[in-house]
Amino acid sequence: MNAATPTSTEPSTEPAYLPRRAEARHCGWCGRRLPDEDRVGRPRRYCAQPCRQRAYERRTAVQRGGLPEDAVVLSGNELSDLQDRLFQLRCAAEDVATAAEDGAEAGELRAMAAELARAAQSMERLR
Ligand SMILES: [Zn+2]
Repeated sequence: MNAATPTSTEPSTEPAYLPRRAEARHCGWCGRRLPDEDRVGRPRRYCAQPCRQRAYERRTAVQRGGLPEDAVVLSGNELSDLQDRLFQLRCAAEDVATAAEDGAEAGELRAMAAELARAAQSMERLR
């Protein structure tokens, strides 16, 4: 049997949740946090097949353009979206600073800081 049978699907055995480890890894395309791995072997670089595919397409396009392979290329919309999120993050951080200057209670500041950390985590993606 020499027919080239496409093996397009890898077994997806990633558990949904694993304990958090010290070093967080992020998808090489969209920047979302990758789940921790509990298996040996090469760690995954992308969160999903579409991200892997788009990274490959961007990589080949970048190579044609003579840019280094690890160049990060964002479209204008992606950059503008990222800048919007960073601006929101700065505003939220300034709100915490203002609350502290206004003499907010420790509990309130702690809640604001926790909310800020949650917001920052949701903004970790690049795209
Ligand atoms: Zn991804």
